[in-house]
Amino acid sequence: MLVISEETCQQVIGRADAFSAVEGVFAAMSNGDAYNFPVIREAIGHADALYGFKSGFDRAGMALGVKSGGYWPGNMAKGLTNHQSTIFLFDPDTGKLKALVGGNYLTAVRTAASSSISINHLARRDARVIGMVGAGHQATFQLRAAAEQRNFEKVVAWNIDPAMLSGLADVAEDLGLPFEAVERKQLGEQADVIITITSAHEPLMMKDWIKPGTHIACMGTDTKGKQEVDPALVAAATVFTDEIAQSITIGEIQHAIAEGLIDQSAITPIGDVINKKYPGRSSDDEITLFDGTGVGLQDLAVASVVVKLAQEQGKATEVDF
Ligand code: NAD
Repeated sequence: MLVISEETCQQVIGRADAFSAVEGVFAAMSNGDAYNFPVIREAIGHADALYGFKSGFDRAGMALGVKSGGYWPGNMAKGLTNHQSTIFLFDPDTGKLKALVGGNYLTAVRTAASSSISINHLARRDARVIGMVGAGHQATFQLRAAAEQRNFEKVVAWNIDPAMLSGLADVAEDLGLPFEAVERKQLGEQADVIITITSAHEPLMMKDWIKPGTHIACMGTDTKGKQEVDPALVAAATVFTDEIAQSITIGEIQHAIAEGLIDQSAITPIGDVINKKYPGRSSDDEITLFDGTGVGLQDLAVASVVVKLAQEQGKATEVDF
């Protein structure tokens, strides 16, 4: 069995490899070659933690496995990231454990790949202002990946605690982009592409604040009860997701579905756009909304690439098991 540490993951996989791995598995899901198993996610009644499993099988990439972990909100005070996870890859032919891979960095990288794939396929070509709602651990990864998809000229951002915006301001400076902290309404008025990546449980972005032609990637809602945008905005948008089953139960779309504002038949898997089964954006005025719920197959896809690269570079530790 191979063990790949968090540090090795950071050394071997970059944004381009993560983008193609996640895009490939979204395409495989659309073709019926890869599927996710039902998600388990439980409040364990200790340390205010959410813990669970995301798993699946990708027949095209021959990736079978599970990501186990969750969210411990008190971790930051202990010098740890709030998300903690580990990916287990199994041999699809035998069921034998093949690799144990650190999942923290990979979660951020595969989640950033997901929103950037949606921007790549759905945002207007002439998008110039990117708006960030949220400034936690994931947000800087999101901004870096998104910035590679269009010729952005400015970053606008909002966070419930404005002091946290300095991390995004640093990334913007690094990217050579002007940065402005704004209120949410102003963010909607200015941004051509918006990423929401918070732990909110109420709508932060309202329908009337969003310009025609905006692409919005809702990335924070991955649990029942969480929410980042106005359900009326979901109803007004053309809606895409990584996986419909997750989107309507634990994703941003759960609220619009519960209120009867949209039907699940109106939601398109992003893999259908990648595979050109569905055209994606149909006009410059259309609001496109991507509900990135985070599927287990994304984790397996990036972990599989990490295993390959770590082996090639002699950085995988072999353990008798
Ligand atoms: P984090 O704890 O580092 O940051 C949380 C962010 O949410 C901060 O910006 C915080 O200020 C903000 N926030 C918290 N409560 C809020 C509220 N009530 N209203 C508005 N903003 C609020 O977490 P993170 O690792 O950056 O993750 C952010 C979110 O993304 C979490 O909800 C997490 O579960 C989710 N997530 C989703 C995926 C996916 O694949 N879709 C992957 C990883 C994380």
